[in-house]
Amino acid sequence: MRFTNLTRGAGIGSNCYRLDLPEGAVILDCGMHPEHVGHDATPMLEQLEDVTVRSTILTHAHQDHVGCLPLLQSRQRGMPVLMTPGTARIADIMLHNSVNVMIRQQEELKLSDYPLFGHRGVEMASRMWRLCPLERPLTLDGDRAAGADGSTTVTFHDAGHILGSTGVMVRSGGKSFFYTGDVNFEDQTIQKGARFPEEPVDVLLMETTRGDAPLPEGFTRIKEEERFAKAVAAALETGASVTVPVFALGKTQEVMAMLWKMQRERLIPPTPLYVGGLSSKITAVYDSMAGEVARNLPHLRLMNDVAPYVAGGSEVQSLNPRKRAIYALSSGMMTEHTLSNIFARKVLPDPSQFLFFVGYADPNSPAGVVRNATQGDHVQIDSKGAAVPFLCHRESFTLSAHARREDILSYAIKIRPKTILLVHGDDPAVEWFKRELYSALPGTKVIAPPPGQAIEL
Ligand SMILES: [Zn+2]
Ligand SMILES: [Zn+2]
Repeated sequence: MRFTNLTRGAGIGSNCYRLDLPEGAVILDCGMHPEHVGHDATPMLEQLEDVTVRSTILTHAHQDHVGCLPLLQSRQRGMPVLMTPGTARIADIMLHNSVNVMIRQQEELKLSDYPLFGHRGVEMASRMWRLCPLERPLTLDGDRAAGADGSTTVTFHDAGHILGSTGVMVRSGGKSFFYTGDVNFEDQTIQKGARFPEEPVDVLLMETTRGDAPLPEGFTRIKEEERFAKAVAAALETGASVTVPVFALGKTQEVMAMLWKMQRERLIPPTPLYVGGLSSKITAVYDSMAGEVARNLPHLRLMNDVAPYVAGGSEVQSLNPRKRAIYALSSGMMTEHTLSNIFARKVLPDPSQFLFFVGYADPNSPAGVVRNATQGDHVQIDSKGAAVPFLCHRESFTLSAHARREDILSYAIKIRPKTILLVHGDDPAVEWFKRELYSALPGTKVIAPPPGQAIEL
């Protein structure tokens, strides 16, 4: 087995990994960096120019894991791509949305090679997607594995992160390799916690997103939800609106379910909720698959029971934050041109408004900049407009879809890998895991794999 990290640059970006097996090269995830454009946003696919990839395995449909998949597929005709049915449904929506974003970027930034693929490219690509069940060993074509014939098997396990998300076990040549993907071990409001295998493995490839995010003593998700409910209630009490930047995929649906519960328990008054068009499409998939996947609140149908207003791109310009409402707008990082970024221009300079953060934001993203700013600062939230005075109320809540660092650490200790590869985290996050793993597992090799360098396993 040989492993190569094809993620360009460090941190959370265009996640993509190559695993060389006796049957050939297998690719794990093929993402696009959500904050970069052009070449910088893609994985190091140039390393695959003369390679016939045997198979690609997709852990889930977030942009940083799926965004460049059609690009890879256009260069690897006939290559099967293995994923769960939920991931396939959502990936289709995410990739068509990404085509529209790239077309707009091409006009604005004059990027000659944009869009990297078109709607037709997504359609062609999706024909090679193989829908895979959980917890069943499969061949590299996504068929049921015959048994002990010695060939490589792939098994998907529920990762508890978003709808359809998985960790992947690859067994080949007597060795086992487990990739966590993005994982959460704890129940969220809709999503149930991960169900990962607990037997020892040879190699563990693990995400480190929250390695730099210690939690205060006595923190529990339930208490944090209560704190969020109280803050939303207090804000609405003043007659103002609450703006919550959220990812269209995952966090929107969790926040909708949370608000539904809060209203039922009379913690907050009935309040109009606004979401974006992409969020509503993905929410419809959550509703239609509610009976097929393991989740909490299986009977809740968000589009019916929460009945949000769906705001398109142009409508956001006309929405008035002074009208009492909750705006759960994407993207979570307030990336330029997204609904939450456009709306933030109205919210930030208004001292009567409330801006609540509920998930991860890259420190360099507009949401990251606002989170770290001091009241009264001017904040730059896009590349063209003037800096905006930051005068609104701001609060952050830890309602992440990623496992707390202690949970991933104890999982790694439980399965005692001979080698651990640390990915999907900023430098301080990776460093924390390195230190902890060195002392907890002294016999284990712990590596932060540098981009583009092959590592023999
Ligand atoms: Zn993710
Ligand atoms: Zn990710």
